[in-house]
Order: sequence, then C-alpha cells, then structure tokens
Amino acid sequence: MSISIKNVTKYYGKQKALDNVSFEIEAGEIIGFLGPNGAGKSTLMKIITAYIPASSGTVLVNGLDVEENDLKVKSQIGYLAEQNPLYYEMYVKEFLLFSAGIYGIANKKERVKEVIEEVGLTIEQNKKIGQLSKGYKQRVGLAQAILHDPSVLILDEPTTGLDPNQLEEIRSLIKELGKKKTVMLSTHIMQEVEAICDRIVIIHQGKIVANDKTKELSKLFHSNRIIIEFANSVNKNDLQNIEGVQKAISEDGKNWAILQKKDLDLRSKLFDFAVKQNNSVLTIQMEESKLEDVFKQLTSKTEA
Ligand code: ADP
Ligand code: MG
Repeated sequence: MSISIKNVTKYYGKQKALDNVSFEIEAGEIIGFLGPNGAGKSTLMKIITAYIPASSGTVLVNGLDVEENDLKVKSQIGYLAEQNPLYYEMYVKEFLLFSAGIYGIANKKERVKEVIEEVGLTIEQNKKIGQLSKGYKQRVGLAQAILHDPSVLILDEPTTGLDPNQLEEIRSLIKELGKKKTVMLSTHIMQEVEAICDRIVIIHQGKIVANDKTKELSKLFHSNRIIIEFANSVNKNDLQNIEGVQKAISEDGKNWAILQKKDLDLRSKLFDFAVKQNNSVLTIQMEESKLEDVFKQLTSKTEA
C-alpha cells in the first residue's frame, strides 16, 4: 500500500473541511481526486504531504505515519501545491539547482540536467521563471516535485489555467511520470481524470461519495439523452421502435431529443436508421451530465 488514509477529519476552527475520510492508494496507481471547489481536496493533500495536521485520523505513506515521520515522508513525496510558489526572479536552472540543494541531492548538476530533459524544459532552461508561459511554469513545478525522485506524487490541480495545448502536454507528462510513480492528482473537471486516471475518488463537502474504477464512474457522467438533427422529417413511432429508445421528443420532426435506456449509446444505431430511411444525420451529440448533478446523485445514494 502506498497511501492509506484512515478516518481523517479536519476542522478549521469550527468548520469541518474533512469528515471521516478513508481510502487507499496502491503503489503504482494514478488516482484522480475529483470534487467541486471547497470540497476539501487541497486540505487532504496538505495533510498527506505533512504540511498541516489532521484533527483526527491517520495517514500512512509507504507505511509511515505522516505526523510522526514528517521529514522522512516529505523525502518520499513530490508535491505540486495548488498555488505553486515559484521564484519568478530566478532562472529555471538556478531555481532547480537551489531546490536540489534544499533536498540535499548529491549530484545536483547532473540531476537537474536529467529532470530538465524529463519534463521538457530544455529550450527554456536559461529563462527567468517569470518570463515563462503558464504551461512551462507548471513544468518547473513538476521538475521541482520530482527532483529527489520520490515514489509518490501529489499534484493539486496541476492543469488548472492551462490552454488546450499546454493541457495536453502536461497530461501526457503526468501519464509518463505515472508509469514509475504512485500519483494522486486533484481536479474539478471530470474529463481530466477520465483522460489520465485508473481510479477516481470523488469528494463532496468533505465526504467521500464514490471510489471506483474510472470506467465505472464515467458511466455516471454520460447522460441518457441524445440530441439529433435529421435532414428530413422522421416518424415518431419509427424512432421509438428502435431497440433501446425509451422516448423520442420533437416539435418539428427533424430535431429530436432521444431518451435511451441506461448505459446505452445508440448513436451508431441512429446513423444506421437514417441510412435505411434514405435520410441523413446533420448533427448528433450525447448530452453530458453536469458534475453537480452527478454529485447530487452520488450524495443521495450514500445518504439513503
Ligand atoms: P478544495 O481544494 O476542494 O477546493 P479546500 O480543501 O481548499 O477545498 O477547502 C475545503 C474547505 O475548507 C472550504 O470550505 C475552505 O473554505 C475551507 N478552508 C480551506 N483552507 C482553510 C483555512 N486555512 N482556514 C479556514 N478554512 C479553510
Ligand atoms: Mg483546492
């Protein structure tokens, strides 16, 4: 077991930020920690990385209690904080050499060179951090997090604020790092964890409401409504006779909302249907469920 979280509760004054949280992360897993803003993600990550104490409960990292062994735990964890504190006036290489010194790394120069290559910072290594784009700043943060070659990486919203290209690059970088390390990353975006993670833990108002394989949880995020536009009018009964269709609704006969039975994806069947009728599909899309709706669904399930 790489990380074991047992009955962790955290109060800030009177406010409860984490409520009896328990789950485990196996060595080598990439897990997504998903929840809306204010759910308690950063709080738990700070507890795991021994930056703040829990009010009660325990966290073990590689079998060590984080509160009793905070320095040893910190040496085994790479942490990218949500507001990644970087020194904007320092040069990339200078900053990483400085960080390597803090970690007490023996072959500083070699290690920094290695890490710069690993995170794709080679062409930017002689710039000031403040001059870098957000995506490259994030690479500097990742470089700093892996300098001491930790076995566990804790990444707090590593892709927030990146543009689509940077997002893709940082995602593949995290995937690559995840081949050799245990990774826990937080986000409030479902697509994010779908793209990267083996398993997803969902937190809502300080409580864990789901913990399952990505494939299983993904289903919850796909709604059962298809929105489709045909070139020519379609008969309602013909549509409702397609196996798996629960209900078809339209005002003009061309634009339809189709409710399908749970866990089905009838999009290709609808294309076949159109072809058989000498009709064609102009647009088709499956509606995505809103994150908030899924949280509601999950919370009502746990309370029931
Ligand atoms: P997330 O990272 O999921 O957005 P946080 O862990 O940052 O959530 O916050 C969880 C809850 O704890 C929020 O209601 C937040 O306002 C509160 N909180 C976080 N940090 C502090 C703090 N230092 N003092 C008081 N309340 C805090
Ligand atoms: Mg946060």
